[in-house]
Amino acid sequence: MRKLKHDVIVVGSGLAGLRAAIEAARNEKLDVGIISKVQLMRSHSVCAEGGTAAVMQPELGDSLELHAWDTVRGADFLADQDVVWRFVEEIPKELLLLEHWGIPWSRRKDGRMDQRPFGGHSYDRATFAADKTGFFEMQALYDTLQKFENVTRYDECYVSSILTKNGQFCGVTVWSLTTGEFFAVQGKAMVIATGGACRMFGFTTYSLTATGDGMAMAYRAGLPIKDLEFVQFHPTGLVPSGILITEAARGEGAYLRNVKGERFMEKYAKAKMELAPRDIVSRSEQTEIEEGRGVTGPEGIMAINLDLTHLGADKINERLPMIREVTIKLNFIDPIKEPIPIRPAAHYFMGGVHTDLDGATPVPGIWCSGEAACGSLHGANRLGSNSTAECLVWGKITGDKAAEFAAKTQNYPDLPPDSALQDEENSIFKRFSNNGKETSFAVRKELQKTMDGEVGVFRTGDGLEKALNRIKELRKLVPYLRVNDTGRIYNTDLMSALEAGNLLDLSEIIVTGALARKESRGAHSRRDFPTRDDVNWLKHTMAYYTPQGPRLDYIPVTITMWQPVERKY
Ligand SMILES: Cc1cc2nc3c(=O)[nH]c(=O)nc-3n(C[C@H](O)[C@H](O)[C@H](O)COP(=O)(O)OP(=O)(O)OC[C@H]3O[C@@H](n4cnc5c(N)ncnc54)[C@H](O)[C@@H]3O)c2cc1C
Repeated sequence: MRKLKHDVIVVGSGLAGLRAAIEAARNEKLDVGIISKVQLMRSHSVCAEGGTAAVMQPELGDSLELHAWDTVRGADFLADQDVVWRFVEEIPKELLLLEHWGIPWSRRKDGRMDQRPFGGHSYDRATFAADKTGFFEMQALYDTLQKFENVTRYDECYVSSILTKNGQFCGVTVWSLTTGEFFAVQGKAMVIATGGACRMFGFTTYSLTATGDGMAMAYRAGLPIKDLEFVQFHPTGLVPSGILITEAARGEGAYLRNVKGERFMEKYAKAKMELAPRDIVSRSEQTEIEEGRGVTGPEGIMAINLDLTHLGADKINERLPMIREVTIKLNFIDPIKEPIPIRPAAHYFMGGVHTDLDGATPVPGIWCSGEAACGSLHGANRLGSNSTAECLVWGKITGDKAAEFAAKTQNYPDLPPDSALQDEENSIFKRFSNNGKETSFAVRKELQKTMDGEVGVFRTGDGLEKALNRIKELRKLVPYLRVNDTGRIYNTDLMSALEAGNLLDLSEIIVTGALARKESRGAHSRRDFPTRDDVNWLKHTMAYYTPQGPRLDYIPVTITMWQPVERKY
């Protein structure tokens, strides 16, 4: 087996991965490798639409304290407040840096960067480029990365495991989808930037690639996974595809209406209305639908109307052109004239690989940033536009710290013995000889049905028990999944089987954590425990791998500025 070497290995090339690679590569003496299972620019980050939060106009009334308070309150007080403070301090600098790197922000008449309202923020601080913010941010980072000759890129290479020896990071194993080769990359330091994992849900805004591989690999390598029971449901997933209709639509003034035409948010969040935090808006929509006030959407699916018709053609064409294009092409609906049918869709993982304030994991040599990480900035519920921002801030920090560590490390740590690397390769390709009945596609569908049905906006103990039993049954099938394609090149059948294992491991963590957490906080809403319980549950869940299933432990929340109070909008 071929063995390659890089001082710093970045796995993932979304906003977090690109930003980390740039920062690491600034040390010219280091050799950086960036690996992505899709072409670098096809990472989910290009789909980010609405904006990136930062305090850019302190002279007009915004402040770091206000951004921090909005984030902590939005998080239902589960965010670590030292992490939040670092975040609000750093993000304005990152947006100015992107400005210098050439991003075409949407601008005000005076030429300054424009900002729009977003849910749960008490100031208009979502900085944006029309409704394609993520795409332009990615483009600016990608272009900047081209300047560095010390970066090697590995497009369309699937990382299958994280290697450690004597408790320290030493490398990764990689399957090249374009050549079929399986090889090892030895490294001194690593940044996991593999993004989110919502694809265990059927109705989701996420790309097909969001299967949580990095979190699952980290979990199996012994790293703790934090707060995974907190899954965000975005209030406006287009029915029936789940494609995101950005929160910026409501930021620009769109209304949510039930079948009677009422702006029902008046009942649930009188002050903030449609711009209440996502957990609250999603629960309100779900309640309207369950109580019979939904509208019948395409394919008979019950939905809510997102009404932009009063915004006018000019505003929609200038500020929300992609939304219009998507709804015309996919639903034959022109939002200038008609409302859009939407409902809550699985959208974001507040949890992830446990890290400290610097994005360091407990294993020396491994850092983690972006959606795969849990610092924890978002606590029990993330505010819209804080995620792209988090990717930039901790992309930079983790790239910097990993580079510093690699520069100090004289020798490459040894890889595990060849026989162990060979075992990893065999464990993947031996699936060709499986004659099991089930395919990964059938198992993934069944998992999605289970997660959509029992682990959604509202949860109950009984439903979660049912889901856990089903997940455990499905998990047993993973080693025997039938793979019909026996080639090693672009074998999406085999990749889907590997991803199924990752999705099932993570689903088991979500449900185990959700069953244990007997309270409702942020996005985790239990019908059988409807209130927040700060006495027993103001703490982070930590899940550790065991062959029988996750072992849970808890750690305290860092509170530096604000004690928990009732959350009202
Ligand atoms: C439709 C949509 C719109 C959004 N809009 C906004 C918004 O307006 N504002 C906001 O703040 N947030 C938004 N978000 C959330 C935000 O975009 C994401 O949380 C963020 O972009 C995640 O970035 P990331 O760098 O962590 O990972 P990603 O961009 O998801 O990238 C993951 C990377 O990891 C690689 N990878 C994964 N597994 C493997 C493997 N096994 N081997 C090798 N490589 C692997 C992938 O190839 C990819 O390069 C949106 C999300 C979606 C889905």
